[in-house]
Amino acid sequence: MNAPARPKKSFGQHFLHERRYIERIVAAISPRPDDFLVEIGPGEGALTFPLLTAARKLTAIELDTDLIPRLQQQAAAIGELSIVHADVLKVDFTAMAARAGVSRLRIAGNLPYYISSPILFHCVDHADAITDMHFMLQKEVVDRMAAEPGSKVYGRLSVMLQLACRVVPLFDVPPGAFRPPPKVDSSVVRLLPIPLEERHDANPARLHAVVKAAFAQRRKTLSNALRQLMDADTIRQADVDPKARAETLAPDDFVRLAKIPPT
Ligand code: SAM
Repeated sequence: MNAPARPKKSFGQHFLHERRYIERIVAAISPRPDDFLVEIGPGEGALTFPLLTAARKLTAIELDTDLIPRLQQQAAAIGELSIVHADVLKVDFTAMAARAGVSRLRIAGNLPYYISSPILFHCVDHADAITDMHFMLQKEVVDRMAAEPGSKVYGRLSVMLQLACRVVPLFDVPPGAFRPPPKVDSSVVRLLPIPLEERHDANPARLHAVVKAAFAQRRKTLSNALRQLMDADTIRQADVDPKARAETLAPDDFVRLAKIPPT
């Protein structure tokens, strides 16, 4: 048995140790032997080993070299663990699925909170190669992801994620469940990518620009906030009130705004 690793702040390491939360996460994922399961940030293996026990095969992406030998050693008796030593933001999930000869991956992880939003956006970019995602995140981030129009925390993250995935918050996890305890509460969320044929068909770069500008000045009316991108008449053409504020618009309203050709 290895001594526990000393958690590194720079890698966002907070190792999960409370068995009941580990069990709830694994039950939520419900891994099956025919899944191609990918874990982001296995750490000391709190989720890795139970997932490996259920799925028999697992690919884990870990940036911290020091953790890899012990993961490999402990996994050997359980199943086939393939560790990719990389920054997850540089991993091409679409290519990974193609190389493995599967149409889709299932992704899970207790994410490093310092890059949780970039990881979410990165996964969304590969949504067509993903069946589902189960992530532990800061509760505040999960609240923003699932927020509805009119809520104080509804913003860019809510709109962009809800246009790509169904966001299903599952349960909260207190700081004491981790070593060391983070300063914030955590939550587990399930993300189910919306099938291509049901997804919006706006240009992604234009959609990003519109949503970003609209929320950059969320207190302003849309005609003010979107001034650089379109005028009030164009906003009206999309069936949106130019006097409205971004926080009152549904995700589909942003799609209509993004689909109007730039003037
Ligand atoms: N899964 C473990 C657990 O639940 O105890 C560890 C979770 S810890 C919050 C986050 C993990 O992500 C750490 O193992 C850390 O080294 C790893 N990590 C941090 N940055 C990463 C990156 N850019 N790419 C891949 N892994 C990363």
